[in-house]
Amino acid sequence: MYRVSYLERLKKALVKLPSIGEKSAERITYFLLSNKEIASEISNALTETIENVRFCKKCHGFSEQDICEICQDTTREKVLCVVEKPEDVMLLEEVLGKKWYYHVIGGVLSPMNNKTPETLYINDIPSRVKNDGIKEVVLALPPTVEGDTTGYYIRNLLKEHKLNVKITRISHGIPRGSDLSFQDGQTLKEALEERKEF
Ligand SMILES: [Zn+2]
Repeated sequence: MYRVSYLERLKKALVKLPSIGEKSAERITYFLLSNKEIASEISNALTETIENVRFCKKCHGFSEQDICEICQDTTREKVLCVVEKPEDVMLLEEVLGKKWYYHVIGGVLSPMNNKTPETLYINDIPSRVKNDGIKEVVLALPPTVEGDTTGYYIRNLLKEHKLNVKITRISHGIPRGSDLSFQDGQTLKEALEERKEF
């Protein structure tokens, strides 16, 4: 069988992407080779993104600086929305129509998968609430058993610190076991607006 090692390497790398199987990887590889301008554009965008995008030291969302633009914005409502992943911040910023602050915990509690409060960004939530004068913490975590467990943990942690803050969580519209990013904007917006005390 005739093989070109560079092509094989690219295919092997592409297969690591979500939703890309062997066949798709092969198609993309040949497409890129016959469209070198597009290939360069993707290659440059990828290199620059990897070099320039980092995680905000405060909220742990995507940022181009140590502290992101959202955290630096002092005019926002004193509401802290806790989410699982950095991409949830992008989605909520887009659909919410409100200016809140965010806190990305980087997963949900799952000791089996080595996700403990120490491996996630949970223990820095009380100090954010205290230092930034947060009046409400909105839990926008996935509607799964792990998401619920994580929510209870955060609630207890805030109570232990005796912080006078309202705790709510998103309610309707989010089917059990699904992921925030799979929700359409309107459903998610309603789930946030109809949030309940937790
Ligand atoms: Zn930030």
